[in-house]
Amino acid sequence: MKIVLASGNRGKLREFKEMLSDDLISVSDIIDDFEPEESADSFAGNALIKAKTLYEKLGNEYIIISDDSGISVPVLGGEPGIYSARYAGEDASDKDNLMKLVDRLKEIGVDNTPAYYTAAIAIVSDRAEYIMHGWMHGRVITEPRGDKGFGYDPIFIPEGFENTLGELDSDIKSEISHRAKALSLAMPVIDMLRRKR
Ligand code: IMP
Repeated sequence: MKIVLASGNRGKLREFKEMLSDDLISVSDIIDDFEPEESADSFAGNALIKAKTLYEKLGNEYIIISDDSGISVPVLGGEPGIYSARYAGEDASDKDNLMKLVDRLKEIGVDNTPAYYTAAIAIVSDRAEYIMHGWMHGRVITEPRGDKGFGYDPIFIPEGFENTLGELDSDIKSEISHRAKALSLAMPVIDMLRRKR
């Protein structure tokens, strides 16, 4: 039974594959230009939009899983939050978004401040819809370090570490990340759905 990730984000796909095995394929292997409008006002709402839209396209041959995630910085009122992927504009790259966050922190004279990542994972099947959340707390800095991970990882230092996620090995991130925590809650559901097929 194939599990389809309703995201073409290569960073996310790599991390899901590390955690979930190779049963996982990306929506971009099956459909061109899958970009549903993320019009909800929460990570959970947007994760459900992505998973339900793909389920409606593909039908019940697959287990659909989606991830909506982002970074929140309390000193900036929670920015960028659900807008993490489009913080510097609709077609912004990961680097543009990271530099916008660095600029916003510099504007208010902060170079090291608490931050956290949130992941909402949605699973949609013919039986039900499920949502699981995970969080990773830490700090953001204004000097990017390292080129591992993706997105905001070069400026994020997880709680209990001195290095950014750009510097830490991927096996550390896959133990402590927001996505790993949400996925550990999702795994029993995925296993149950696989068994029922
Ligand atoms: P989404 O694909 O709409 O859920 O947007 C997620 C965005 O949040 C990504 O483009 C990244 O900028 C950011 N993000 C989410 N998870 C991570 C992570 O684990 N590391 C770095 N950035 C992340």
